[in-house]
Amino acid sequence: MFESEVKPDDGLVNLKRRAFLVTSASAVAGLAVWSLRKPRLAQATASKEAPQEVTIVQFSDAGERLRTVHVPKVVKTEDQWRRQLPAGVFDITRHADTEIAYTGKYWNLHDQGVYRCICCDNALFSSETKFDSGTGWPSFWAPIAPENVRSTTDTSYGMARTAVSCTECDAHLGHVFDDGPEPTRLRYCMNSASLRFVAHKTA
Ligand SMILES: [Zn+2]
Repeated sequence: MFESEVKPDDGLVNLKRRAFLVTSASAVAGLAVWSLRKPRLAQATASKEAPQEVTIVQFSDAGERLRTVHVPKVVKTEDQWRRQLPAGVFDITRHADTEIAYTGKYWNLHDQGVYRCICCDNALFSSETKFDSGTGWPSFWAPIAPENVRSTTDTSYGMARTAVSCTECDAHLGHVFDDGPEPTRLRYCMNSASLRFVAHKTA
């Protein structure tokens, strides 16, 4: 109906139609203003809300499973993360960069211990599931607890991959692939820079 009224070959121009077009233009302009305002309103509302709660499993530095807890998600501004983290770590954890293979601290580490999030200390992986993938990145066949990491679809660089991040603070950790060893056949390919290794203390 709208199309037929504004067809250029329609020679009939009358006041009624003009009025209709003016009204439509105002409506569109109004909608545009509303659309521009909406994100700001949403943002303002979000900042007043309490941080989102997440469920994680806590582990001791000895790798002992302690308890499942609900904690407020760690939310910081870009500037706060930038001040807290070295530049390379900031780029990897907060902007999904990837360290160059064989350059990280942990790809060739075989000590017993817990790998925690460099940003928030959430326990992420155990040396018990670490294996030598030959990729130059620390690789695990499972997280220390499924609750502690999140998987999301990543289509950057024209590839369909599954990105892995920290449940507690959203730090980008790496990707997970389905070419790992038994028993899961998964390969959590992580950046050393996203992790902080805590060795089991020997008595
Ligand atoms: Zn974290």
